[in-house]
Amino acid sequence: MKELSLYLHIPFCVRKCPYCDFLSAPADGETIGRYADALIEEVKQASCAYTDHDVVTVFLGGGTPSLLHGKKMQVIMDAIRANYRLRADAEISMEANPGTVTKESLAAYREAGINRLSIGLQSADEALLRTLGRIHTKEDFVTAWAWADEAGFRNRNIDLMEGIPGQSLDAFEQTLRFALSCNPTHISAYSLIVEEGTPFFAKYHDGRGLPDEETERAMYALTGQLLSANGYRRYEISNYAQDGFECLHNIGYWNGREYVGFGIGSSSYVNHTRWKNTSDLKTYMSCALREEVQHLTMQDEMAEFMFLGLRMMCGVSKEVFAARFSQKMDDVYGDVIKKHAAEGLLLDGDHVRLTEEGISVSNYVMADFLF
Ligand code: SF4
Repeated sequence: MKELSLYLHIPFCVRKCPYCDFLSAPADGETIGRYADALIEEVKQASCAYTDHDVVTVFLGGGTPSLLHGKKMQVIMDAIRANYRLRADAEISMEANPGTVTKESLAAYREAGINRLSIGLQSADEALLRTLGRIHTKEDFVTAWAWADEAGFRNRNIDLMEGIPGQSLDAFEQTLRFALSCNPTHISAYSLIVEEGTPFFAKYHDGRGLPDEETERAMYALTGQLLSANGYRRYEISNYAQDGFECLHNIGYWNGREYVGFGIGSSSYVNHTRWKNTSDLKTYMSCALREEVQHLTMQDEMAEFMFLGLRMMCGVSKEVFAARFSQKMDDVYGDVIKKHAAEGLLLDGDHVRLTEEGISVSNYVMADFLF
């Protein structure tokens, strides 16, 4: 059987954070309920195309999936189980905002079959949480973490953010140490990107108020050192895990596994074709329209395979590349690999991977793999 990942997008939040450019917005309970029904319908209707696939991971992302009622989550998971070949050991992840969960909702999510929780802390510093416009406090996180434990979630990620306006290296270290004290199985630490069109862009587009480049680099280095000293292995540029707790959904994505996205704005990649759902809520709720369909050429797929695979610390296997594309990686990318290896940015062996220096200029290196 071929392996497949499912992604379900829940585009609702209590309020919009000023730095966020994800497809998400506040909505009332009735709209959230109707959207969930449309999502369930889409999940069911699409299933006939994947009878020869085993679903190995499911990811509920957003937005804020934890705005969904526990009972609704049960119906969604029942629809997946009834209509797809969901592997018994499938990783089923859900993102949660600490300001939206209750002891009961977390127990209901676990009961529904969610077995991995990703909780967005971002920072353990109250002032920085306010700067980010987050709806939760550190205390909310502590409570949610304890409830998640009680509900039986053993596989839990904490999302952290580097480069917040006004964030010092010291404040960031305290957040890292706090996260470690919670003993999560996984930590994601992403740099804040000031995205055009957000209130943060209007305020910080010239970089004033943000930590300078040197501080940002020190935060990244500190994350690696501290987490590694505490038993977490960096397996992707921004992701760290205890042994055996790497996020299988994201690894599948970086390794080019096929995936189907449900909900507004979600993308799918199956059988050399990528498509994207409409981003318009009303249109989606009426007919779940596909907005863009792109048939990928072999070159598109090779470039993407390299581009995504280089995010992983293990890099891209030449053997897997050859098996997938019936061409040797060196025949296609030999010059690019040689060039960046000579610059000290890539390591060239059975796998091609970024060096530490290469990670800091990863966009420059990856861009060369595009045709
Ligand atoms: S909670 Fe997450 S998805 Fe929602 S607005 Fe804030 S950053 Fe965006």
